[in-house]
Amino acid sequence: VIAMGQAEKSVITTCAYCGVGCSFKAELKGSEVVRMVPHKDGKANMGHSCVKGRFAWGYATHPDRITTPMIRASIDEPWRKVSWEEAIGHAAGEFRRIQARYGRGAVGGITSSRCTNEETYLVQKLVRAAFGNNNVDTCARVCHSPTGYGLKQTLGESAGTQTFESVLQADVVMVIGANPTEGHPVFGSLLKRRLREGAKLIVVDPRSIELVKTPHVQADYHLKLLPGTNVAVANALAHVIVTEGLVNEAFVAERCEEAACRQWRDFVARPENSPEATAAVTGVPAEAVRGAARLYATGGNAAIYYGLGVTEHSQGSTMVMAIANLAMATGNVGRMGVGVNPLRGQNNVQGSCDMGSFPHELPGYRHVSDAATRGLFESEWGVAIDPEPGMRIPNMFEAALDGSFLGLYIEGEDIAQSDPNTQHVEAALRAMECVVVQDIFLNETAKYAHVFLPGSSFLEKDGTFTNAERRISRVRKVMPPLAGMADWEVTCALARALGYPMDYAHPSEIMDEIARLTPTFHGVGYARLDALGSIQWPCNEAAPEGTPIMHVDHFVRGKGRFMLTAYVPTDERASKRYPLLLTTGRILSQYNVGAQTRRTANIVWHAEDRLEIHPHDAEERGIRDGDWVGVASRAGETVLRATVTGRVQPGVVYTTFHFPESGANVITTDNSDWATNCPEYKVTAVQVVPVSQP
Ligand code: SF4
Repeated sequence: VIAMGQAEKSVITTCAYCGVGCSFKAELKGSEVVRMVPHKDGKANMGHSCVKGRFAWGYATHPDRITTPMIRASIDEPWRKVSWEEAIGHAAGEFRRIQARYGRGAVGGITSSRCTNEETYLVQKLVRAAFGNNNVDTCARVCHSPTGYGLKQTLGESAGTQTFESVLQADVVMVIGANPTEGHPVFGSLLKRRLREGAKLIVVDPRSIELVKTPHVQADYHLKLLPGTNVAVANALAHVIVTEGLVNEAFVAERCEEAACRQWRDFVARPENSPEATAAVTGVPAEAVRGAARLYATGGNAAIYYGLGVTEHSQGSTMVMAIANLAMATGNVGRMGVGVNPLRGQNNVQGSCDMGSFPHELPGYRHVSDAATRGLFESEWGVAIDPEPGMRIPNMFEAALDGSFLGLYIEGEDIAQSDPNTQHVEAALRAMECVVVQDIFLNETAKYAHVFLPGSSFLEKDGTFTNAERRISRVRKVMPPLAGMADWEVTCALARALGYPMDYAHPSEIMDEIARLTPTFHGVGYARLDALGSIQWPCNEAAPEGTPIMHVDHFVRGKGRFMLTAYVPTDERASKRYPLLLTTGRILSQYNVGAQTRRTANIVWHAEDRLEIHPHDAEERGIRDGDWVGVASRAGETVLRATVTGRVQPGVVYTTFHFPESGANVITTDNSDWATNCPEYKVTAVQVVPVSQP
């Protein structure tokens, strides 16, 4: 806390929106926050910010905040305000009743990428130690779970390889399925700076994102592929690199597994993977693929940045591995200016995954079946840990519908709104006997809840977030929790009510426990974070100040492993009835389902989600710019207003998903990534017809 004169002070904290993790000074007059000022010493943002972090924090004191715990016997009854003690006691009693009747595995929990590392750690600890099972999953399931899987398989660590600043030494940048200037604006500006200095740009995206052509930046190649064909494009790029002799032989020989590399070369060299053979499937001209591959392989330091346009597909994990293959084959790993860089959507996606939120992994990505790791946690936690992986979120829904999973503790996640196939999710929630929602607003999921525990915003607690470059930054309490308890305190109280002792005086003690148990966090602690400003993990005896660049001399898994990445078309195909392919994305001023940004002045910049449609498709249907259109898929239907634009290609339509009433997730299907169940949000076959105003 820095004294700022008479009635003013400022507290340095971290933005709670996107995965850039900008540092801010929250300025206060008395106890009231009056301004958020980007912090010039923040290593992720260096004094820059976007309109979300700078202006969209007023939701924290919005009148919609719920500050009193509530319970009800059934979801058809009105809420009854109760004390914290009664609400937590009721929730614990219900969870224990369900377990006694249906078995230990009949309950579980969901962690949030919006909450701090410490809070996430506690929720998974509660599930494993107090519930006694591994039924814990995270909202990262629906965004970057393929990143965790794909990078672990190939490089050995479930995280991006670089620091953001690394892009300033890139000669070639390939952006795949991401829109940095809208979704990650501060990084987008850094990238634009490098492009203005002369770096080359390859964009792989079904839509013309801003970077494709601005007054100052123009992509050298825009591979405008059809949604769902990422892997075919990546294999075609690899085909050119292998068949034209562009592989970095010295790097591959020294750093990668030889047999796997040989198999991969044989696979991508097959004629069916050539740019010419795949053009009909991907819609990308062969010459553009050849040119982009040559540029990526020979243009100097080449870096790949990717987003949900890579992961949210039925082959999301395959595509992450295909990207890692490209980087290894060209030697673009292990130094500044290169690398494989997932752009994380939410502020703490990286952290929520690091903290053991997946049902098969303890903190630090260690499998629950590993006896030595379990032993470490068992001696710290004083309980036996189930060696069997628990249920993922989609499995929880299935089990709810068959009557074997009936209690769910959800911290900071609106699954009724953000998970695919809303009708299915709602049916599963309805089938449960005890749904406990801990959130700052009465969200859509709370309609199906029996207990509501008021959550706390990022301004009301201490903790840490971990951004897309593995940077752990402090979140500092700016004002007291409106409901009297921060999220971490609520989880501790629930654990105690369940009969499991969970007591910490401050979140720093939780981080100390994480550091004791997690080799990549051994050197992390609040004193060091305060001294250094932030730390990129791994931070331990070998790297006491953290690790900006990973895989420098060797890959975390030893040798890099090429993986075979056969293209398998998604089941979601265009048809006579559903002839257009819908894909989705973000806009600068809004954030995810809009729960926060819609409750701020940022609403004036983007008041509704719209459907972008190509002039040709619009004319064919008699749709004019601004008309209302019905959008129907195999899963459901909704109504949106149309924007007629050449940004999308014929046959493809696009919408943002920031407003619940636009119903983007009502029309998305049940398809998901084969390895991680990450939903295929980015491809939905739809019909679009003009309708009168709803
Ligand atoms: Fe917040 Fe991301 Fe904007 Fe930075 S770029 S201010 S982290 S939303």
